[in-house]
Amino acid sequence: MDVYGLIGNPVEHSLSPPMHEAAYEELGLYARYVTFEPPKDAAGDAIGAAETLGLAGLNVTIPFKEAVLDAVEPDDLAARIGAVNTIDLSGDRPTGHNTDAIGAVRALEEHDVAIEGSAVVVGAGGAGRAVSFGLAEEGMEVAIANRTVEKAHDLAAEVPGASGHGIDTLSDLLSGADVLVNATSVGMDEDRSPVPADALHAELAVLDAVYSPIETRLLRDAAQTGATTVDGAWMLLFQGVEAFERWTGQAAPVEEMNRALRGRL
Ligand code: NAP
Repeated sequence: MDVYGLIGNPVEHSLSPPMHEAAYEELGLYARYVTFEPPKDAAGDAIGAAETLGLAGLNVTIPFKEAVLDAVEPDDLAARIGAVNTIDLSGDRPTGHNTDAIGAVRALEEHDVAIEGSAVVVGAGGAGRAVSFGLAEEGMEVAIANRTVEKAHDLAAEVPGASGHGIDTLSDLLSGADVLVNATSVGMDEDRSPVPADALHAELAVLDAVYSPIETRLLRDAAQTGATTVDGAWMLLFQGVEAFERWTGQAAPVEEMNRALRGRL
């Protein structure tokens, strides 16, 4: 049996187990997906233990995404983002990947959004980094707006072609933008949006990384202007789809994974 897992702290509310197990069931794979909660300072030990026990692959969530970099060989994108959320344990040495970045891109593509032109990413934390690198990698011109403007400038200096801004400039930034991504935690378990409603417009595609609630204030405001809206569960789904495909070499049963995920939200 192939055992996959997730390390994080805490992990008890993770939606990854039902999503991955739905894929194993659909494809008839003899595999299990298990969550582990190592102590917060034990990222390296956890990877070593997973190797020793013969696990096939690991997902990584907060607070270990940066710390595991020392214990794996990151691919180019994960090294540049500075965070790993997927580890492949099938080779001689664990390799680290970041499927949050491509997860955001695939979530937009699933909604027929062209990954071209200009994007505004609100937030410069972990999600903001992954999304900014992911969109820039696909050739988009990325403007990063963050409450703490220094963090936006610092991140923009690393992301090819990006610019950094304060969050108070969103109305100007959005007037000619094609894509908007909320990568802040604003809107999570609260009815608040990080973006003024009057800055939104019908030509925008809006992805909210927040997935609890699934329909955020930002997405409601965006829908009212006629913008294309993409909820955070799509990003979560496609980071899982990418991890599954990397580990198994098989096309993921996206519909079943999506159904399992949304059934738990
Ligand atoms: P993080 O590293 O802690 O970053 C938080 C970001 O939110 C920072 O940019 C922070 O700005 C900003 N922020 C927090 N409170 C704010 C406020 N009141 N007003 C304006 N900005 C505020 O967190 P993260 O890991 O990037 O996660 C951010 C969100 O993305 C969370 O809701 C998380 O669940 C979601 N997420 C979703 C997925 C997915 O697959 N859908 C994946 C990863 C994360 P400052 O720098 O100024 O503090």
